[in-house]
Amino acid sequence: MDFLRPTTWEEALAAKADLPEAVPLQGGTDVMVEINFGVRRPAALLDLTRVAELRSWSVTDGTYRVGAGVPYATVIEELGGALPGLAQASRTVGSPQIRNRGTVGGNLGAASPAGDSHPPLLAAGAVVEVESRERGVRLIPAAEFYLGVKRSALLPDELIRAVRVAGAAGPQYFSKVGTRNAMVIAVCSFAVALHPHERRVGTGIGSAAPTPLRAPEAEEFLRAELDWAGPLDPALLRRFGELCAAAAAPIDDVRGTAAYRRHAIDVLARRTLTWAWDDHLGRRAA
Ligand SMILES: Cc1cc2nc3c(=O)[nH]c(=O)nc-3n(C[C@H](O)[C@H](O)[C@H](O)COP(=O)(O)OP(=O)(O)OC[C@H]3O[C@@H](n4cnc5c(N)ncnc54)[C@H](O)[C@@H]3O)c2cc1C
Repeated sequence: MDFLRPTTWEEALAAKADLPEAVPLQGGTDVMVEINFGVRRPAALLDLTRVAELRSWSVTDGTYRVGAGVPYATVIEELGGALPGLAQASRTVGSPQIRNRGTVGGNLGAASPAGDSHPPLLAAGAVVEVESRERGVRLIPAAEFYLGVKRSALLPDELIRAVRVAGAAGPQYFSKVGTRNAMVIAVCSFAVALHPHERRVGTGIGSAAPTPLRAPEAEEFLRAELDWAGPLDPALLRRFGELCAAAAAPIDDVRGTAAYRRHAIDVLARRTLTWAWDDHLGRRAA
């Protein structure tokens, strides 16, 4: 197995263009497990850990650009205020060791339906920045990035450069059901993001369909029915939960049944919206 070690982004793009079958390596918390268990034996590994620009984040006009190599620990420590949904999800990933190595870029690269960063990225309307040597930069909305189980819109000669997310303009919450409280793959998960200036609520569902996905009908329902100045109507909350559950397309597997997952999405949707709404009204009163 060849081991490629670019030190600049340009070198990394050139290596991927010349050898598209090379498997990118960021934190290695997915890739190395797969290699150790013999799940894959790539012809080459493309180690991105020396590409310094991938490990930084920046902010321009309120939009955060989080490099593909930024670990969860940094998201938690430095971006909790600006990107609270993503930071909450990051706190639930694995253990401290995994959060020190694992990255949002790697989560996107793996494109697992159970990846914890996906629901908050969907709810916040994030955009994935990918690049190839031949065609330059492509900006892919998160909602169009996930194509199937562990399949994404990333092309063989492309690398993920960063994810772009607007700083939170309103409350955001993430919640995850697991078979225990830590070191656990989500049975299902849900994220909500209020966008008060647009009178809009974003949603993200994890581990309850072949891909992470939004609940567009639930979002449309709230857009039409929400009174942004008043308390949450219980009937509206109930309908929101039902529409989120209906958007899911779960399966029975070792972690849970489809029926349980659908029920749990209903509960998580109502719970996270209630938390967010309490914050929203608190902010309005402050
Ligand atoms: C013990 C343990 C617990 C875990 N718990 C959780 C959990 O709770 N929640 C969760 O979501 N995940 C969990 N994971 C999975 C893993 O940690 C995450 O998916 C993490 O985000 C992967 O990031 P990484 O940087 O380690 O990726 P890597 O393993 O380096 O890469 C993952 C995938 O992304 C691709 N890739 C990486 N970087 C790029 C790039 N720049 N461009 C294109 N493709 C790229 C790789 O080729 C690979 O296919 C766990 C893993 C372990 C071992």
